[in-house]
Amino acid sequence: MAQILDGKALAKRIREDLKKEIDGYLKKGMRNPSLVVILVGDDPASKVYVENKRKACKEVGINSLVFNLPAETTQEELLNLIKKFNEDDDIDGILVQLPLPSHINTQKVIQAISPEKDVDGFHPLNMGKLATGMDGAIIPCTPLGIWIMLKHYKIPTFKRDVVVVGASNIVGKPMALLFLRKEEAPVSVCHINTKNLKNYTKTADILIVAVGKPNLITPDMVKEGVVVIDVGINRTEDGKLVGDVDFEGIKEKAQAITPVPGGVGPMTVASLLLNTVSIYRMKHGFTPHPLTDI
Ligand code: NAD
Repeated sequence: MAQILDGKALAKRIREDLKKEIDGYLKKGMRNPSLVVILVGDDPASKVYVENKRKACKEVGINSLVFNLPAETTQEELLNLIKKFNEDDDIDGILVQLPLPSHINTQKVIQAISPEKDVDGFHPLNMGKLATGMDGAIIPCTPLGIWIMLKHYKIPTFKRDVVVVGASNIVGKPMALLFLRKEEAPVSVCHINTKNLKNYTKTADILIVAVGKPNLITPDMVKEGVVVIDVGINRTEDGKLVGDVDFEGIKEKAQAITPVPGGVGPMTVASLLLNTVSIYRMKHGFTPHPLTDI
């Protein structure tokens, strides 16, 4: 029976530690770390994500400024708002919740955020640093959270065969890059145009799945002793949250597995807090937060 990798508990511990750390800064007379979160339109899932981020910030002492902009906000208005916060020294992090309405060019928006304030790590400069293994990359929150979880639960990663299913810029690609940049482990990346997914997943010592399709990964597709990280978030007809893997079936074969909910999701939010505090620390002449400095 697999070990359950409890992201919820680990994220709680990280938040508690961050709260103590931030209390320490406040006692020294420093300001709170601060994060701007911009949501355009009223996509219900995005609203929930933004609310979770706001609550988590509040809990640890990060000032969050949440902007709920109407769906008809123009690209220019959004870019102007970003520019204003880029220039505001009291703002550490800027996050624009994706997806954006179709009349706004997402690439332009990502590139408009100052790379130093890019808490999501989606700016090409941060992605480029991550890809080339250069110092100082801000690492996208979901891959960072997964990395922290693997290390915390002492899952060996060196020379393991890693398979990432899903190749988005938000999860799959930066996840694969984390294993590649220091040649930690070989990585296969699969996506919609992978001819025979099972051929790849069967080889995995560590299988990370970020697709958005319930039961995409079934027990026959994995080998005995695999570590499975399930990033997917899917809502079933009866309103339950499930991931991309057949959790019940696979937990009999796996060495370790993340649950949904309570696995990767809370770690993603914790990583957002860590990235924000890391930027704050560097602005004040300190080292980056050790958990983000990987
Ligand atoms: P996306 O839609 O941008 O990318 C999906 C990827 O899956 C693409 O690369 C696509 O080619 C691939 N894909 C689609 N069908 C496939 C198939 N049949 N076989 C193999 N690959 C296939 O999605 P995303 O933003 O990367 O998110 C993926 C999932 O992870 C979603 O369910 C999302 O809700 C979830 N997610 C969770 C968190 C978290 O914190 N837990 C964070 C981000 C995303």
